Amino acid sequence: MTSSQFDFSSWGLESSIAKGISSNGWEKPTEIQREAIPPARKGLDVVGQAKTGSGKTGAFGIPILESCEPLGHPQAIVLCPTRELAVQVAREMESLQGSKGLSIQTVYGGTDLEKQAKKLSKGCDIVVGTPGRVIDMTKRGHLDLERISIFCLDEADRMLDMGFFPDVLWILEKSSSRQQTLLFSATFPEEVLDAAEEFMTDPVHIMSDDMEVEIPEIDQYAIHIGRMNKLWALGRIICNMKDGDQMLIFANTKRMVEILTERLGKFRIRATGLHGDLSQNKREKVIDSFKQGGEEILVATDVAARGLDVDGITHVVNYDLPVDTETYVHRIGRTGRMGRKGVAWSFVTREETSQIEKISSTWSLSIEFTEAPSLPEGMNRDPIGKREDWDEVSDIFGMVKVRVPLGKGDYSKRDLADWIIEQARVPDIAIGEILQNDEETDVEIHVDKVAYVMDVIKAREFNGLSLSAKIVGP
Ligand code: AMP
Repeated sequence: MTSSQFDFSSWGLESSIAKGISSNGWEKPTEIQREAIPPARKGLDVVGQAKTGSGKTGAFGIPILESCEPLGHPQAIVLCPTRELAVQVAREMESLQGSKGLSIQTVYGGTDLEKQAKKLSKGCDIVVGTPGRVIDMTKRGHLDLERISIFCLDEADRMLDMGFFPDVLWILEKSSSRQQTLLFSATFPEEVLDAAEEFMTDPVHIMSDDMEVEIPEIDQYAIHIGRMNKLWALGRIICNMKDGDQMLIFANTKRMVEILTERLGKFRIRATGLHGDLSQNKREKVIDSFKQGGEEILVATDVAARGLDVDGITHVVNYDLPVDTETYVHRIGRTGRMGRKGVAWSFVTREETSQIEKISSTWSLSIEFTEAPSLPEGMNRDPIGKREDWDEVSDIFGMVKVRVPLGKGDYSKRDLADWIIEQARVPDIAIGEILQNDEETDVEIHVDKVAYVMDVIKAREFNGLSLSAKIVGP
């Protein structure tokens, strides 16, 4: 049977679940679902490579829903790295179960413990939670892990990143009736493979070629830009967005998320910030509103954006380049979901050039260096003005190379230096090396004086000649 003919009905799923799937509007399983669901339904352990957006929740959700019954005690647990992801997974499983009547409960930190305990005490068949709170609830006697038979780890690589593994192992040990383990991860660092080896039995591996991360079909661009003009470039990208486009901007710190949201606001560009300091309630509101298209631009840290599942994201912007290469892949995976086209932009300062090279070589990505996009037709002013950014063109000693059209034979280096010092009234030390060839001369000028010196060079005559002056980089 070819994949194009293949649909959910050929599996003979329980009718409530089959109805749940079709009322979700899903017609055919995604690749990971097609490969993971059959072995998981047989009760085998599965290690699957799947990123958010590939349909992985259905891949583990459907077999879990099938094997649980509305008995009122936990039979399956799904562990996720963040509460947002836990909420999302629980929601999706809720809609997939149709009328089966299972109680699916979320257990995550940052919310009222007593309320969660109360809900659990009413009976729960499937737990979806973050490790810390699951442990807490178990220790307090509100959660019984002893009759868990399916254990599922979602985004295992990120859980590892976030230092959750000791907690995961604790929960595994308490799940003493465990019969089946499902593990999903976008990437497979050594530690995830080791962990899988340790607690899984002959798992079926579902990997894409060479265990490479699946890179979504998206255009990736990078712009060489100094810190001062990132906002200008962002303005250019924003003003080229089409109706209905949505943008997720990544900054590396909470503070930067705040600054950026505020600055954009000053230029009348509405953007909402999402970071870990916001209350759970507020975060959920922001995410919901973004999902429903109520917000066009979201600025987030990596942690806050984990598991953010919004199909409408068309643009990802790395306002700050991520520190590690894997985060880049996670970030750009927020766009181009479910086969849609997306675009990712990265701002790269001079010092970060080697970092972007490392990212593209590690994951064999093609990231094209380009200029910021032009203003769209009919627009003749930048939404955010460009500023002179001398820091980007100065060397580590703060010197900027300025080129003037004077050849070797025309004058001596000393003449030129003296003329600049006298005309611009700058100290000797503001002039660095002078390099000449037959047609041109490059003069190093200190960054603090360069703007003024360039104005002077252009305005006054040198031995009766009007000169041009242009920056040629550090
Ligand atoms: P996930 O990778 O689980 O976060 O899923 C990404 C998105 O794809 C979610 O919005 C799912 O509801 C949707 N999705 C998952 N499986 C299918 C499918 N077989 N057909 C259509 N949409 C799907």
